[in-house]
Amino acid sequence: MSRRRLLRPGQIRALLLDSEPWLSCDECFNRVDRYVEHLLAGSSGHDELMTVHLIACPACLDEAESLLTLRAADLGMPAQTALQTLATELAANRGAP
Ligand SMILES: [Zn+2]
Repeated sequence: MSRRRLLRPGQIRALLLDSEPWLSCDECFNRVDRYVEHLLAGSSGHDELMTVHLIACPACLDEAESLLTLRAADLGMPAQTALQTLATELAANRGAP
């Protein structure tokens, strides 16, 4: 017997997103350190594959946000500032064709 589960609107949006160019979660994991360092250094648009993946993959986004928060603390940067940098990067790419 199967049980039906309703998807939340955010989950449906994520499933329908264009995730090209494609990057696997493993590749994302291998690149996330570098991506976070670039973000904290203030450079944007440096890794389109990562940005596209993070927009479409809530699990990896969660991982990236955790790492970003930890690295920001090391640098004495408020977590909210670091998270806003990531949100701005993702928002800038969200509407891209
Ligand atoms: Zn992923």
